[in-house]
Amino acid sequence: MRVVVFNAGSSSLKIGAFDLVEGRGPAAARQIYKASFDRFTAQGCDLNINGESARAPHTDLSSAIHAAAALLQDAGLSQIDAIGHRIAHGGAEFTGPALLDDASIARIEGLTPLAPLHNPANLEAVLVARTLWPELPHWAVFDTSFHLTNPARATTYAVPESWRALGLRRYGFHGSSHKYVALRAAEALGLPLRDLRLISLHLGNGASACAIARGASMDSSMGMTPLEGLVMGTRSGDVDPGLFGFLSRGAGMEVAEIESALHAESGLLGLTGSSDMRDVEARAAEGDAAAQLAINIYAYRARKYIGAYAAAMGGLDALVFTGGIGENSASMRRRICDGLDFLGIRLDHDRNLAVELTDRAAPQIQSYEARVNVLVTETAEQLMIACDMAESIAQQRGPKTAQPRKLPIAVSARHVHLCRASVDALFGPGYELTPDKPLRQRGHWAARERVTLHGPKGEIAHVAILGPLRPRAQIEISRTDGFALGIDAPTRQSGDLADTPQIRLIGPAGHYDTDGLIVAARHIHMNTADAEAAGLRDGARISVNLTETGRGLTFSDVLVRVTDNAFTEMHIDTDEGNAAGIVGAVSGEIVAAGQMLLAD
Ligand code: ADP
Repeated sequence: MRVVVFNAGSSSLKIGAFDLVEGRGPAAARQIYKASFDRFTAQGCDLNINGESARAPHTDLSSAIHAAAALLQDAGLSQIDAIGHRIAHGGAEFTGPALLDDASIARIEGLTPLAPLHNPANLEAVLVARTLWPELPHWAVFDTSFHLTNPARATTYAVPESWRALGLRRYGFHGSSHKYVALRAAEALGLPLRDLRLISLHLGNGASACAIARGASMDSSMGMTPLEGLVMGTRSGDVDPGLFGFLSRGAGMEVAEIESALHAESGLLGLTGSSDMRDVEARAAEGDAAAQLAINIYAYRARKYIGAYAAAMGGLDALVFTGGIGENSASMRRRICDGLDFLGIRLDHDRNLAVELTDRAAPQIQSYEARVNVLVTETAEQLMIACDMAESIAQQRGPKTAQPRKLPIAVSARHVHLCRASVDALFGPGYELTPDKPLRQRGHWAARERVTLHGPKGEIAHVAILGPLRPRAQIEISRTDGFALGIDAPTRQSGDLADTPQIRLIGPAGHYDTDGLIVAARHIHMNTADAEAAGLRDGARISVNLTETGRGLTFSDVLVRVTDNAFTEMHIDTDEGNAAGIVGAVSGEIVAAGQMLLAD
């Protein structure tokens, strides 16, 4: 499939054309054309085609897109299957790519109040491109979609309910970039993305950090708008919102004036007079105190986010630098990482200086004994947009094979899996649990015995024990149970117990204190035959639609775990079951492969 991607801003347009292999993602894609129009002024703009720079007469976005049509034609790229458009803000509703028609364009226009500086330019490109290529499907791929997996604790501002009802929440941006570099880092490390806790630092003119736990974004430094977070070229990043009152009362400034200055006159520009890190670094080297302070602030802010996100994920396996500054400034990478030894981050300074990024390279620059891998790689937002769009087009066409698309849903009530030591402590040394009821997964059973969970806020009695014994105790509760106990349990897949909270189990013979308390992440057990029939691989993340229930619901980001003899069934917890209004036996329908089918 051949696709063209437009990435339009108010003063620039980037274009990429790609040949894609269906279902194979970025690793199998080939870029066949690349162009960028930069800095539109009344005198024209800079044009770069496949690495060759020149001046061009185009003064605005519309004329650049018209010129792009001719350039693509001249390059022999007339056979195009689809056009993808980067759209900054998709709000909470666009969870993935969307086919652009009058209705979806109107919905995107409705989101303009959330992104007044970005969405209008993105949409202008859509409107012009649709007139130039009316016969082709046009798709929107949103910067925000990747972050819609962030938990509510990361996305909710502690502000009045009536404000939140207006859509005021954290969204996060640079989604295509963070998603791409996470995939690329996992590929370069030779590890499945679902085993990794990553921090991606996209440091370009705009800059953001993203915590990616097991393939899903769980927090990102940009918020409702791309203004929050790191220091950027012209944007302030984090400030105290109290400055609005201060400047309004003390300096008589209007809200719009303050907002505009935070976007366009702050960041490196506000600190030094230049928004370009190359200038700032050059001036700092010459002894300019303002430039030196700006560099320190920039690195310090990034370092704080690394610490915060390592804490949010309960650990860190890899840190990835990308964006113009992340890719090119060895000294900034070093400043950011200096002092993070305690987290396991330590650079090898020779490797850091020798970074060379041609041909999708993703060199590692950590020292040999460091616990955390540190990588540098060029971002490829257009490529990721192309691949996400192609995946949506394939899904829209429907599955290739006739699939068993229905699968039974099981609601797992709270339960524990015990280890030998815990049975000894709770029921007496050498005690054997009594298998009472067999479970549908072969060889598994519920025991006749029960335990009590004891937390700082309260107790939950009569909790089921599931056998057989495991090497390590695991306690699975719902989020609601977590509040009753007074412990914040992380959402994890079974067995992923590193850095989980402590809980006390109480039995007739004594108590047992252990970590291993989790809210079980929804998942599907699937046997190999069913997985093959459904065209799914182990590790795929899919969406499942429940329509037979009182309150229909689509569960996204459901992990598929394929084993030879599994009884095919989806497991959700009681909170999820209640949300869907499940009563009795129900089945769900596989509606779509999720965003993060793991790379081969
Ligand atoms: P955008 O976010 O607009 O795509 P880029 O990712 O191209 O921007 O990043 C632009 C930033 O990268 C600028 O601040 C530029 O100074 C910086 N940059 C590019 N090359 C270098 C370099 N060799 N050293 C330091 N900074 C650099």
